[in-house]
Amino acid sequence: MCLATTLLLSFPRNAEASAARRLTVSLTFDDGFASQLVAGRILDRYDMRGTFYINSGLVGLPGYLALEDLDSLKAAGHEIGGHTVTHADLPTLSATEANRQICQDRQTLMSWGFDVSSFAYPYSAFKPSVERIAQQCGYRTARAVGSLKSPHSCADCPVTESVPPADLYATRTPDDIDTSWSLADLRNTVMRAEESGGWLTFNLHHICDGCSPASIRPAEFEQFTAWLKRRSSTSARTTVRTVQQVITGATKPAVAATPPPPPRSPGKNSLRNHSLEVAGGTGSALPHCWSAASSGSHEPKHSRTTDAHTGTFAAKITMPRGTDGDAKLIPTLDLGDCAPSVTSDHIYEVSAWYRSNTEVYFTLYQRDAAGQWAYWTQSPAMTAAKGWTKATWITPPVSSDAVAMSVGLTIDSPGTLTVDDLSFVDETPAAARPTTPPAAEDADRIDYAAYTEDQSADGGWLGIVCITIALLALVAGLLDSYRTKAH
Ligand SMILES: [Zn+2]
Repeated sequence: MCLATTLLLSFPRNAEASAARRLTVSLTFDDGFASQLVAGRILDRYDMRGTFYINSGLVGLPGYLALEDLDSLKAAGHEIGGHTVTHADLPTLSATEANRQICQDRQTLMSWGFDVSSFAYPYSAFKPSVERIAQQCGYRTARAVGSLKSPHSCADCPVTESVPPADLYATRTPDDIDTSWSLADLRNTVMRAEESGGWLTFNLHHICDGCSPASIRPAEFEQFTAWLKRRSSTSARTTVRTVQQVITGATKPAVAATPPPPPRSPGKNSLRNHSLEVAGGTGSALPHCWSAASSGSHEPKHSRTTDAHTGTFAAKITMPRGTDGDAKLIPTLDLGDCAPSVTSDHIYEVSAWYRSNTEVYFTLYQRDAAGQWAYWTQSPAMTAAKGWTKATWITPPVSSDAVAMSVGLTIDSPGTLTVDDLSFVDETPAAARPTTPPAAEDADRIDYAAYTEDQSADGGWLGIVCITIALLALVAGLLDSYRTKAH
C-alpha cells in the first residue's frame, strides 16, 4: 500500500469532516469605482473586511476612488489588490505589455503604501502565460470569475472553491453580482456553500441604485451584510475574510515591470502600423494598435477603407448628422506596445494624410510614468480637403512628467474623415520653435473597447468600455465590463 493511502486512512474522519464544513466568504470589489466607498462603510458597520481590486491608472479619475479613499479603506482594514494599470484585456496583449500591465500596477499600488498580494483578471480573461506573469509580478493569487454554481448558470459546477484552491492563479467564484441577483440568491448561495464548506467569493462592481447593470443596491448589500454577520456570529463555521486572509503568506517585494521601448531617434516615425495596413483582429474595423476615441453622446462609425493614400487600407471615421462632440482614431492608450515613448522637452512633428468634408485638427494625449493617460493639447484647425492632403503640426515641448504620447486627427462636426500614413517624429532641438497650444473646447472620450474588447456572452452593454477626458483632466466614463467565462 502506498504512503499516500496510508496517510488518508489514518486521518481522523471526524476532524476531516468538520474541517470540510467550514466556509470562508470573501467579498471582492473590482475596478475601484467610487460607489464602492458605500460598500466599505457598510462593511465597517458590521466589522467585516473586503478586498478591492484597483486599476492604478484610473485612481483619482472622476467616477473612481481617489488615493485618499484607498487610504481610508486600508485604514479600516480592507485589502487593496491589483487589477492591471488600465483594465487591460490581458490575453490580447504581448507578454511584455501584459507584464507592464500587471507588474507596474502592483508596483504603483505598493509605492502608495498598500500590501498587495491578490490580483484579479480584468474581464476574467486569462491564459496560462498570463497566470505565470501574475505570479512573476509577485502576486500570491489571482481571481477569475465563474466556474462555481450560480443562481442563473453553472448548475452542475462545484458550489465552493477548495482551500487551498486547485489553481492559485485562477480561483473560482460564482458569476459576478449584478442586478439579476436577489437577496435570496445571495443567501441561498451562502447556505448551499455551507453544506460543503470551502471558499466562496462574491465579486461586486457598483453599489448604487441602478447606476449600472453590474450593480447591487446599497440597501440590499447592507441586508446581505447584516445577514452574513448574524450567520458568522451564530455559527463559527462561516466567516468573512479578505483574500489575503485566506491565501496567507509573506508579501513578495514589488517586481519592476518590463520597461517600455525607448523613444525613437529624432527623424524616425514613432507610430506603429502608421499606414494602417494591419487589421486589429479578425473582423475588426480598427487597425492594429489604434483605438477609437470620441466625445459626446454619439457613437462614431469606424471602418477600414481601400480609399488609401498609400498601400491598401486607410481608416474612415463618420460622425452622424445631428450629433455633437468629436471623433478620432488614436494609437491605443497602452503602456508601450502601441503608444510611442517620448522625451521630455523635445518637440515633435505630427502629420497625417487626410480627406474630409469638415475641418480637422490633431488631438494629443500623454501618459505619465505611473501609467495614467490624460488629454494634453490640440493643434489649430485645418480646412476640409476633398483630395488627399497632408496635415502637419509641430507640438509644444513635451512636459517633464510625460513619458509617452498618443495623437490622432480629429473631426468635431458631422461629416467624414479618411486618414492614412500618420507620423510622429522627434524634431529636436526644441528651442527654435516655440508653440502655444490653443485651448481645447470639447470634452473628449476615449473608447478603450478596441483593445479591451468585451467577450461576454451576456450582451452588448458589457462591451462598452470608455473613458471620458475633459479639458486638461481625464473625465472617466469607464463602464465596467466583465466577462463571465464559459462554463
Ligand atoms: Zn474589472
